[in-house]
Amino acid sequence: MEWSVSGPSSVSIDSIKTVAVLGAGTMGNGIAHVFARSGYRVILRDVEQRFLDRGMETIGKNLDREIKKGKIAEAEKGTVLGLLRPVTEMAAIAAADFVVEAVPEKIESKRAVLGEADRILRPEAIIASNTSSISMTTLAALTKRPDRFVGMHFMNPVPVMVLVEVIRALETSDATFETTMKLAVKLEKKPVAVNDSPGFVSNRVLMPLINEAAYCVMEGVATAEAVDAVMKLGMNHPMGPLELADFIGLDVCVDIMNVLLEGLGDPKYRVCPLLKKYVAGGWLGRKSGRGFYNYPS
Ligand code: NAD
Repeated sequence: MEWSVSGPSSVSIDSIKTVAVLGAGTMGNGIAHVFARSGYRVILRDVEQRFLDRGMETIGKNLDREIKKGKIAEAEKGTVLGLLRPVTEMAAIAAADFVVEAVPEKIESKRAVLGEADRILRPEAIIASNTSSISMTTLAALTKRPDRFVGMHFMNPVPVMVLVEVIRALETSDATFETTMKLAVKLEKKPVAVNDSPGFVSNRVLMPLINEAAYCVMEGVATAEAVDAVMKLGMNHPMGPLELADFIGLDVCVDIMNVLLEGLGDPKYRVCPLLKKYVAGGWLGRKSGRGFYNYPS
């Protein structure tokens, strides 16, 4: 029996010249930065000019930091910035061969933006999502190109972190998957192949570590400082789990634990009550000035 392949095949790695990044926030501007630094034309789309201005300003500052560190030559800054085209109108993404979606982690936002992108893009274009916790298969099903849909999960801060989890949703074609793996290498990243499952690998392993560290504090096993010291000095982690939790945002950690609990149905993923209490009290970590540690402004 022969299986028919639905729809046109996806773009090949060599035909990708123009990339669109949807969302110019924390992740979107970093993703646009690394694509432009690797010579791709980038259409950076956000809903308002002020978000684009803020994103472009961050890219400028991060390029300056790279110049200071000797990672790029001073003359390259202008070239990289020249490859970026900030836009508010969605129609401008029609020229893209590959799209990375980095809009807020809310299914309604993703549904609206992915549906629109799917209608505008040419059939061969690949759509990737940078979601950190929503099922890739659910997102792929919001488009009419589930075989040309893939997860491309960058880490924060994108210009610095080398990992990209490349996530295969239920119907992602081999061609789409291979192209995305190769594309991550072109960005000088290290792609790691992962199947679609709650939390993928990164958050499936990291969040229970953070949660357990929070239990240690709640049960009086040790102070936050002591828990972090054990993991840094004893396990060679560059940051302790609680320091890292404050950096990520305690609200984000709680949300992701709930995704693991709901998706995997195992009570071992229940959220530590201390994390819930901190979030309820507005202690969200660095962004609110207080979490496991204090961050005086
Ligand atoms: P953010 O809130 O910093 O940025 C989101 C941006 O998207 C905002 O500028 C917003 O104006 C814009 N936006 C909203 N609707 C849009 C639309 N229809 N079209 C274009 N832009 C739109 O969020 P973020 O932290 O960059 O997260 C984006 C995605 O990346 C989420 O799915 C998140 O889970 C994932 N992620 C975040 C991190 C992290 O550490 N922040 C790490 C990995 C993955």
